[in-house]
Amino acid sequence: MIVTKQKSFQDIMEALKNKTNIFIIGCGECATTCKTGGEDEVKLLCAELSKNNKNITGFVIPKAPCVVSQTKRDLSKFRAELERSDCILVMACGLGVQAVIQSKRFNSKVVSGCDTLFAGSMTSLGEFFEFCSSCGECLLNITGGLCPVTRCPKSLLNGPCGGAKDGKCEVDRTKDCVWILIYERLKELGELDNIKSIVKAKNHRKNLRPGVRSLKKEN
Ligand code: SF4
Ligand code: SF4
Repeated sequence: MIVTKQKSFQDIMEALKNKTNIFIIGCGECATTCKTGGEDEVKLLCAELSKNNKNITGFVIPKAPCVVSQTKRDLSKFRAELERSDCILVMACGLGVQAVIQSKRFNSKVVSGCDTLFAGSMTSLGEFFEFCSSCGECLLNITGGLCPVTRCPKSLLNGPCGGAKDGKCEVDRTKDCVWILIYERLKELGELDNIKSIVKAKNHRKNLRPGVRSLKKEN
């Protein structure tokens, strides 16, 4: 899932300056889980913006605003409201904001109400952990399923830097050194020999931005 943090109300108001009629789009998936763009947060924002002289023309919470076809379908039910709006505020990740623009259901300015932090897994209720940075060349098969690209702040590919103390990373003592976790996991799996394999420098051509992939072409 994509982990987001709501922008401060002051920042949202700044982004909406000179705009009066606001339509809000939330997100029924990730931003609901992160409590940044679900129904509760969107309703609260509607109330706060109204108190600050904004006219809320309407709101919708698509299941996943990052899916352009879904967003198109959901927004088609709000043509009148969108026509009355001079700004669309999206409470979702950067994918959602740009998919809303791609939907081409309106011409108004689109404003983002959230900061996108990372693609993460929920480890316990309300706790998110970044496990993968979509590097395009996955090493998990030789590292016991633990990602050094993402979970080591230096993204070291061939073992630890030597700065860990009591199992904790030298960059952030609150976090485990992933290379120690990798060592322990490989030992458990009987695959410690993997530690000796030399991983070549990453080929960054494999995750050139922007990433575009068409499953249609592959079939
Ligand atoms: S190596 Fe790490 S960052 Fe790269 S694809 Fe695998 S899990 Fe993701
Ligand atoms: S202590 Fe471990 S996790 Fe931290 S930077 Fe060094 S190798 Fe990476």
